[in-house]
Amino acid sequence: MSNTYVYPYKNALYINLTNRCSNDCDFCLRRTSNGVGEYNLWLDGEPDAAAVLAAVDGYGLRQVSEVVFCGFGEPTMALPVLLDAARGIRARRPDLPIRINTNGQANLIHGRDVTGELAGLVDIVSVSLNAPTAEEYDALCHPEHGPAAFDAVLDFCRKCAARGIRVTMSVIDTLGEEKIAACRKIAGDAGATLRVRPYIG
Ligand code: SF4
Repeated sequence: MSNTYVYPYKNALYINLTNRCSNDCDFCLRRTSNGVGEYNLWLDGEPDAAAVLAAVDGYGLRQVSEVVFCGFGEPTMALPVLLDAARGIRARRPDLPIRINTNGQANLIHGRDVTGELAGLVDIVSVSLNAPTAEEYDALCHPEHGPAAFDAVLDFCRKCAARGIRVTMSVIDTLGEEKIAACRKIAGDAGATLRVRPYIG
C-alpha cells in the first residue's frame, strides 16, 4: 500500500483518487499489478482535495501539458474530491487541459446527471467502451449495475459531448475488426471519437 496520489508520466501529471470502481473488468490492471511503473497505486486511504493539491504542488504544473484523473480505480467514485481538485488545478494554471479517464458510469454511480458539474472544469473525458453491446460489456466488465450500465455509459458520453466536453471512447486492439467498426459507429453516434489502444497484459 502507499499514498501515491499524484505521479508523472511522460508530459502529464496523473492523479490517483481512489481504488474503488463500479466495474470489475477481466483485463483490469489491478488484477495483475500494484500500479504503473515504479508507482504503487494501492491507497491506504483516499485523499481529500487539499492532499491532492499539496501533492500536485510538490511536482509543480509548469512543466506538464495535461493533468489526468485516472486510477487505480474509477475517479468519479470520488467525485467531490475530483471537482475540488480540478478547481484548484484550474486556479493554478487556467490553460492546462484536464482529462478524466473513466468507465463512464458517473451518472449511474451518483444517481443524477453530473455532467454539468464536470463541464467547465474537465476538458476531455476518455471513456472505456470496451465492447459493442450491453451483453458483451456486462460479460467483460462485470458492472455492479448490470447490463444497464452500457446504455448509461453511452448516455453519459452524449451528455458530456452536448456540454462541450471533448469525448473519446476506447477499445483494446484485440477486439477484432468487426467489433471495432461497430464501436466506432457507437462512438460517433455519441459525439465521441474512438481510440483503439494496445492490450496491456
Ligand atoms: S473500469 Fe477501469 S479501474 Fe474499473 S475495473 Fe475496469 S479497468 Fe479496472
